[in-house]
Amino acid sequence: MDGRDADNSKQSTDDMTTFVQNLLQQMQTRFQTMSESIISKIDEMGNRIDELEQSINDLRTEMGQDGAASPSPTSKAREETKTVGVELNCNKRNEGTSQHHTHMAESLSRCHPTKLEYFHDMFKLQASAAVLSSFANDQGTQTLVLDSTIFHPQGGGQPSDKGFISNPLFTFVVEDVRSKDQIVYHYGHFENTEDVSAVVGAEVLLRVDEDRRRLNSRLHSAGHLLDICVRTVGWDHLEPTKGYHFPDGPFVEYKGTVPPNELQEKQKEIELEANRLISEGGNVSVSILPYNQASELCGGSLPDYIPKESSPRIVQLGKNPGCPCGGTHVGDLSEISSLKVSQIRAKKGHTKVFYNCA
Ligand SMILES: [Zn+2]
Repeated sequence: MDGRDADNSKQSTDDMTTFVQNLLQQMQTRFQTMSESIISKIDEMGNRIDELEQSINDLRTEMGQDGAASPSPTSKAREETKTVGVELNCNKRNEGTSQHHTHMAESLSRCHPTKLEYFHDMFKLQASAAVLSSFANDQGTQTLVLDSTIFHPQGGGQPSDKGFISNPLFTFVVEDVRSKDQIVYHYGHFENTEDVSAVVGAEVLLRVDEDRRRLNSRLHSAGHLLDICVRTVGWDHLEPTKGYHFPDGPFVEYKGTVPPNELQEKQKEIELEANRLISEGGNVSVSILPYNQASELCGGSLPDYIPKESSPRIVQLGKNPGCPCGGTHVGDLSEISSLKVSQIRAKKGHTKVFYNCA
């Protein structure tokens, strides 16, 4: 090995050292970048887990209030106001889900459940209230939320009330009323105001369309009367599952079938019995009772969907056993005037009794 070789060898060792140092430097930089990226991903995952937890909590809160989770916003939008309020076992309110639902309204629901005045006094057709919120909805109409209402929202098989909400500065025409998460939404339009923002906080007068309410109440009470008559004529195995008390073809649906050869005869018997009870008359009472008392009034038991710790609202026709119900009714059976059983259809394990009030 000569001196030149020695020089070369030193040169290549230096080169190697520089190369390794550079390599180490590059690797360190890469590891640093990777570790920062991993940490940021972990942070991101942490945030997502937090969001997920929040969603689960929200869902739990909702389930606690409603007994079932609300549909997703997408399905809410699809259901729209076309949802037909069918009375499910009387008190299991089918609160028409609405596309008008907003985040603002969601937050309201936690703070201000609307006081349902018709629940306690279903004959009050004029009352005062305060406007809590006023906003435009997706349908191009306006929505009003009040602290209390005498308007019956669509649900429980009963159509919504209509009417007016007004004060000296404006008149709001109520075209539809829905309930969701304990908030009642009044949908309609302002007739004579330009400054819609001034509406919030206003004291207002509520007026329910009396004729429409009277018809809805008569049809609803008539539906309950059918339940009694169906039992009286010997069909006591039938269990009411659905009520549709809308003027366009009201019916009550029962679980259980009946022999086809009995249909015609029983149809007449039910109608006769109903009209006998109507002409006899009898007080229709509505009361909110502790669970046990309510159960006693309803013949010793309440349907499973009524929570044991609740105080259900019970409607009672005359001296007959009561039934949990959230709707409005006549004050006396005689107000139904007359009932016609138009058709009875039995199929697929169910019997549908169609009726109407003259
Ligand atoms: Zn009812």
